[in-house]
Amino acid sequence: MVYQSLYRRFRPQTFREVIGQDHLVAALRNAVVEERVGHAYLLSGPRGTGKTSTARILAKALNCIDLSGDGEPCGSCDSCANFEAGNSMDLVELDAASNNNVANIREITANAALGSPGKRKIYLLDEVHMLTAAASNALLKTLEEPPDHVIFVLATTDPQKVLPTIRSRTQHVELTLVAPELLRLHVEQIAKQAELEIDSAAIEYVVEQGSGSVRDTLSALDQVVTAGGIPEHRGSVDALVNAIVAQDLTDSMTAIAETVAAGVDPKDLAYRTTRKLRDVFLAGAGVNSGEATLEELPELAEKAGEMGRAVNVRALELLGQALVDMRQAPDPRLVLDLALVRLFAGTSDPHPVQRSARPSGQTQSSSERPAAQARAVLASAQSTGDGEVVAASSDSSSVAPPPPPPTQATEVDDRPDQVAPVTQTQTQAKGSLELSITEVSKRWEQEVLPSLAARARARFQAATIVTVAEGRVRFELPNETHRERCEQIKSDIETALRDIFEVEVEVELTAAQEEKVQTTAEPKAAVEEEVVDPAEFEANAGTGTTSVDRVLEAFPGAIASGEEDSASR
Ligand SMILES: [Zn+2]
Repeated sequence: MVYQSLYRRFRPQTFREVIGQDHLVAALRNAVVEERVGHAYLLSGPRGTGKTSTARILAKALNCIDLSGDGEPCGSCDSCANFEAGNSMDLVELDAASNNNVANIREITANAALGSPGKRKIYLLDEVHMLTAAASNALLKTLEEPPDHVIFVLATTDPQKVLPTIRSRTQHVELTLVAPELLRLHVEQIAKQAELEIDSAAIEYVVEQGSGSVRDTLSALDQVVTAGGIPEHRGSVDALVNAIVAQDLTDSMTAIAETVAAGVDPKDLAYRTTRKLRDVFLAGAGVNSGEATLEELPELAEKAGEMGRAVNVRALELLGQALVDMRQAPDPRLVLDLALVRLFAGTSDPHPVQRSARPSGQTQSSSERPAAQARAVLASAQSTGDGEVVAASSDSSSVAPPPPPPTQATEVDDRPDQVAPVTQTQTQAKGSLELSITEVSKRWEQEVLPSLAARARARFQAATIVTVAEGRVRFELPNETHRERCEQIKSDIETALRDIFEVEVEVELTAAQEEKVQTTAEPKAAVEEEVVDPAEFEANAGTGTTSVDRVLEAFPGAIASGEEDSASR
């Protein structure tokens, strides 16, 4: 017997069996019951979340001869049987990724006018954003005047790339990543039905691997079943996360080297590590990302405390960017290695007194200091563009990197220390905002923040009002990096405050006071709270890309909470 993947074997056959997409399923089922199904739907969402399965069920329900009262196909009439056998004439599926030219679409639209055995004929165009411009326009013509019995279901992982004119002709429904609790239940249920021996650790593993995609989750389950257990490199993500938490470059690179040597895709490692660091960050703020179990939370929170918020944020930013860069990189592992080098190059030297005493460019004792070590590796990797330099230093037996060219080392080592400036606005006080700080803070939370655009709201979420006096509101931001970002959109905040309080308000932004760094402190305590890379800011200023954008890009399924245009799409 040919082995059939669990995903195919347990593909949902009714609306009820589609998991995690309740809003979509309810809308379609009602439309079927009330016979007001639209002529065109656009289903968008991450891969493996049920777009094509749902489209097939819709087609089946619309042609079922014995439809149940709640809109579910009966599963036993001739039409349903044909659908389940995959040979119904009422469903035409086209993978637009491989049939993307205008001739493919013309063929479909020409046939669409012809009758078919069932009541309705459904065209399912998968990955519709891959159509060429000419093909999109040919499709648009048909969507403008669809034959009565025809329904188009367009599926895409990237709705932004679908022609706006096509989007506007369709009912657009977004599918979301499936919550881990639902996936856990789903896996348990399938394991039971398929009589698979699988313990709870393996279930956690496949759910984590699936990252919200039903298909990926069941593929991981297939692999675990085939391999007879969780693959041995399972611990690799934890090893890398622990090394990052401990801010140990050598251990980090060793973890990467060992994991890649075990056959793990560096992109997969980077992705899972980023997710874990995200969980750590949220646990540090007392929030469960929804992917951690209750038992894991204390450990994650402890990690958050150990690495500190600044390093955690910086690690997320750099890994998020690495995930984006890795897509096009010929050597994705090098991108990951360099991201970690940059992460540790950004941390301050734990022995500042010794550093200032030694001549720049001297590297004998660099193996003791992750920051100097990382800077040296970064400098030589950047100057030569040679991946071998990095690969060599990931071998724990040769910890000290080759001495970098003196000019590079000087440039990197002598970077001026970052000082947190306090913005002082030298204008006349207006004295018209005569409210208490309590009152202003309250209305800021309840009225001003919700009125801001998504980006401004995200940046100012962490702002605390510290003083209100003489028409000025002073906000404190967690660190200088954050303050600079907020500074860019300060005028938006002033406008919003003016609109709410109906007086002119001046906004001042300060970064939280930094603690004095003790020269005798443990290396971890000496980490700078703000890590500012001027080059990165210049690059960002050009594109307007924020770290939030980059993380969103790296997690295609993620939806920024409160993102304004998501509701109107
Ligand atoms: Zn039926």
